[in-house]
Amino acid sequence: MSDELKSHAKSADSATSRRAFLRSSAGLAAGGAVAQALTERAFAQPAGNADAGLARVQEQRRILIKGGVVLSLDPRVGDFAQADVLIEDGKIREVRPAIVVSAEGAAVVDATNRIVLPGFIDTHHHFYQGILRNILTNGLLNPDYNRDVSNTLTAAYQPSDVYAGVLVTALGMIDAGTTTAVDTSQVSHPPAHSDAGIRALQESGLRTVYAYSRGAGPSAKYPQDIARLQETSFNTSDQLLTLALGGTLDAKIFAVAREAGVPAVSHGVNGNTERTLVELGRMGLLQPGDEYIHCNHLSGIAWRLIRDSGGHVSLAPPIEMAMGHGMPAIQDAIDHGVRPSLSSDVDVTMAQDPFTIMRATFTLQRLLALQRSRNGELNVPRLLTCREVLEFATIEGARCALLDRKVGTLTPAKEADIVMLRADRLNVWPLNNAPGVVVNLMNPSNVETVFIAGKARKWRGNLVGVDAARVLRLAQEARDAVLRRADFKMNLLG
Ligand SMILES: [Zn+2]
Repeated sequence: MSDELKSHAKSADSATSRRAFLRSSAGLAAGGAVAQALTERAFAQPAGNADAGLARVQEQRRILIKGGVVLSLDPRVGDFAQADVLIEDGKIREVRPAIVVSAEGAAVVDATNRIVLPGFIDTHHHFYQGILRNILTNGLLNPDYNRDVSNTLTAAYQPSDVYAGVLVTALGMIDAGTTTAVDTSQVSHPPAHSDAGIRALQESGLRTVYAYSRGAGPSAKYPQDIARLQETSFNTSDQLLTLALGGTLDAKIFAVAREAGVPAVSHGVNGNTERTLVELGRMGLLQPGDEYIHCNHLSGIAWRLIRDSGGHVSLAPPIEMAMGHGMPAIQDAIDHGVRPSLSSDVDVTMAQDPFTIMRATFTLQRLLALQRSRNGELNVPRLLTCREVLEFATIEGARCALLDRKVGTLTPAKEADIVMLRADRLNVWPLNNAPGVVVNLMNPSNVETVFIAGKARKWRGNLVGVDAARVLRLAQEARDAVLRRADFKMNLLG
């Protein structure tokens, strides 16, 4: 975490929040830019007793998460109605009931009535668009998104806008329980834009695959700038950031990825692009660990090619349904033996939190299978369970991001990317089924504590070491600047 991001303290006292909310609502009613003025007061709170626990967690090399409902999602480790997770030097050391440590040898975190599980993994999101949230509320991929976001607004970005968009996205993800994501950047105009995005990712503390992707304009250096990035920002494996090459299904891009030794992250793979996919396969350019995004309406041949080459898929059901990409390929993937990972894609239209995506996946797969049954089909697909969807959002995400050696399950020796979800809340209590409550009942307000590589990034409901007022101010300033340069009007009340 950069020194710039200074510590801010515990939860806003509810009266202050309420006042801030009322002030802001009144402002909105009055209309105008002033409406979104953000006050430091709404965020800067005095330190309290809760920070004593945080300080201990930050100091100790051993952290014991005690007495939670533990979903390790690793069949060899098992799941537990009540167990402990011991973190040592940022890694998971042990997962079992009743781990005993000496009081001075570890920070003990009470997990009573919490569900403890691996952090969520989002395998495709365009981080830089964080400053454009919901700017395309009712838009379609074509023509709205391609015209307004991909072209007009993206072209107006300066490096500081990339920085602000990536930062607010990454922190928003951690806040919602996502601990790993793939940033399919798509704003690498001159290299300074890529560098600004990478700096924000580094500062955020989110584990990220930076899928270096195209930019626009004469000074864009895509894809060859990947060689420089490899030297400057990805010269060690001992960091939270890894590198991939984002692009379309294009032999030249795949060749650059192969030369750089990084996975190819291919965007917009669908029925129209599968001939190219087949050609790439024939050319021997597909490799295990490559990622294919969307995959709507692929033929059996294309699915087998992805599966047999060791590829992984990323589906974004809410966005694909809302923006017209086509039928989310949940059933297609399963039918072809490919366990999908999940992604949020863009928040110009839809929420980026994992709960929204898991829920959409669960309900859609079941709707379609049940509808086939209702129509008299006999061999209808098996209905997905909440546990399976939870696996899509964790271990399958880790496999897709090529990080399953490090994260995705609570397995000893993996890095400690762990979320603690509060079950003793009015929206979910009493707790009757842990995977079900996570997938079908919870929302980001249940995300209480988040560890990434054993570091507390969210503690008892608040992000750690984040000056939220600064981040919000940067996001708003960048949004204003991009809209002004692009001469684009937002529609606040529409
Ligand atoms: Zn996308």
